[in-house]
Amino acid sequence: MAGKMLSNGRVLIIGAGGLGNPATWALARAGAARITLVDPDPVELSNLARQILYRIEDIGAPKVEAAARRIRAMYPGVDINPLEASFTADNGAALASAHDFIIDATDDPATKFLINDTACALSRPFAYGGVLGMNGQAMTVLPGRSACLRCLFEAPPDALETASCREAGIIGPVAGVIGEIQAGEALAVLRGATPWLTGRILTYDATSAGRFRLTAVAAREGCKCGASRRANNSSATDAAH
Ligand SMILES: [Zn+2]
Repeated sequence: MAGKMLSNGRVLIIGAGGLGNPATWALARAGAARITLVDPDPVELSNLARQILYRIEDIGAPKVEAAARRIRAMYPGVDINPLEASFTADNGAALASAHDFIIDATDDPATKFLINDTACALSRPFAYGGVLGMNGQAMTVLPGRSACLRCLFEAPPDALETASCREAGIIGPVAGVIGEIQAGEALAVLRGATPWLTGRILTYDATSAGRFRLTAVAAREGCKCGASRRANNSSATDAAH
C-alpha cells in the first residue's frame, strides 16, 4: 500500500491525542514517509479509550515517543520524528516552514489560531480539526487562496466557552472520523490535488442520520490572510502584497 510518490512529503502533526492518533496512523498506512509529531504531554490512563496508538505500558511515557514506537513497529519505512514540545510562537515558524502540510490536532483554541496565523504567514496549507461531544468539524486552508480560521471565527472563543467545551469531552469514534479526514486532506495536497475541504467546512454529527454536512466558507474581506483579495479582485492580486 505504501505510495512511493508520497515519500518526499513532510507532514507536521500538532497534537498526539484524539485527533493526532488516527491522523498519524492513517498517514503512515498510506505511505506518507516523513511525519513530525509534536506534543508535550505524557500518556495517561484516561487516554487509552480513544488514543488508539497507546498501550497500558505506555502510561507515563511521552505521547510522541509512544506513538513513534508503535508506528515504527507497524510501518518500518515511515520516518517519524517525535518532538516532545508544544507548538508555540517561539518554535512555530521554524516547525511550519520545515513541512509541506500541517495537521491541527490540538484541543486548545489559542493554539489553533497560532497554527492558523503561522501557516498563513508562511503559506503552508493546513487542516483544521475540532471535536466536541458527538460533533466534529474540519476545514482545509490553502493560505491566500481559501478562507482561513479567522475568516470563519475572527478570534478565539473566550475562556468560559473553552472550559465548557472541555467538559463536553471527546468521543473516540468522532475524533477518529475527523483525524482520518485530516490525514486524507494532507494526502491530497502531497499528491498535488486540491483537498476536498478547501473553502468549505465539514461538520459531523454522530447522532444524526445525515451525519456529514458541508458548508461553503467565503474568505472574509479584511482578513489578513488575504484570501478575499484574491477571490474578489483577482486582477489586483498581482499588485497587492
Ligand atoms: Zn482569513
